Amino acid sequence: MTSPLELPGWRHVYSGKVRDLYVPADAAHAATAERMLVVASDRVSAFDHVLSPGIPDKGVLLTTLSLWWFDRLAGADGGRSIPNHLASSHVLTLGADGEANTADDLQSLIPDAVTGRAMVVKSLDMQPIECVVRGYLTGSGWAEYRENGTVCGIALPAGLQNGDRLPEPIYTPAWKAPMGEHDENISYERTVELVGAERAAELRDLSLEIYTRAARTAEQHGVILADTKFEFGIDDDGVMTLADEVLTSDSSRYWDAAAWASGTTPEERMASFDKQIVRDWLAANWPAPREGEPPALPADVIERTTARYRELLERLTAA
Ligand code: ATP
Ligand code: MG
Repeated sequence: MTSPLELPGWRHVYSGKVRDLYVPADAAHAATAERMLVVASDRVSAFDHVLSPGIPDKGVLLTTLSLWWFDRLAGADGGRSIPNHLASSHVLTLGADGEANTADDLQSLIPDAVTGRAMVVKSLDMQPIECVVRGYLTGSGWAEYRENGTVCGIALPAGLQNGDRLPEPIYTPAWKAPMGEHDENISYERTVELVGAERAAELRDLSLEIYTRAARTAEQHGVILADTKFEFGIDDDGVMTLADEVLTSDSSRYWDAAAWASGTTPEERMASFDKQIVRDWLAANWPAPREGEPPALPADVIERTTARYRELLERLTAA
């Protein structure tokens, strides 16, 4: 992995598979409410491995899409406002003259080197749960269903095919494993043990609400939101807050609605705007157990992935 950028005013503290996190390095960047800089890179991961080379423009495309969704979910889609981790819509500090620092001040804290792919956020107490919601049957869910008629232990009607819509969206949480380990599907009861009954219910209800609202918005743009994953954290006031990236082509499966309706094979029906292209290529060219270094992604896989990520953004954000 390439070493993270040196950014003026910020100190690097952590790198996940895709994002690099920074904390304020000086007083100008510090604030009464703790804040962080989340920088999305062009790195791409599949089956929990970071691949190379990266996908050009991916960091900008994912950040743009996350910001757009945060805005929809804050009420632009007509629903109630879902609290998110963006610091910019919050008054964080009072200047020497008593003036509140506003959104624009925070934007100016984003270093030029990462313009377009960074967000100034509130540093949250992250919940150790990946909140997955599935509206359609595919991927690991389809594999489990074919075996024993369930998805993450939830029984489903018989006779469903790969790519079918589920009778209603289901919440299938996973335990967020420490870096280097694989996330593990867990039962709802296990989430209660991990975070308590009240927080567990809050995570489930928020996840299902956000999925339902986002799926409706996507459908208005001819796109199916097949499944997605959210991360939440608790802010200084104890509020459960939507964090990380949201509803991007990395954290979600998006399909073309027209292809889904008219397709006859699963491949046709699930014409995707996400990193399925990368997953499929890796599955075919690097069989399990996938040890050592993954093979380099070929140029055409990279180009097709960038093009699909870009097309999703254009479709969703088109008026
Ligand atoms: P891992 O955390 O296992 O590295 P990952 O590879 O998905 O997972 P990235 O998405 O690359 O990680 O990195 C983002 C990291 O930042 C995640 O660990 C995520 O939980 C964390 N994060 C996102 N938003 C916030 C926030 N507002 N406050 C604190 N941590 C956050
Ligand atoms: Mg992540």
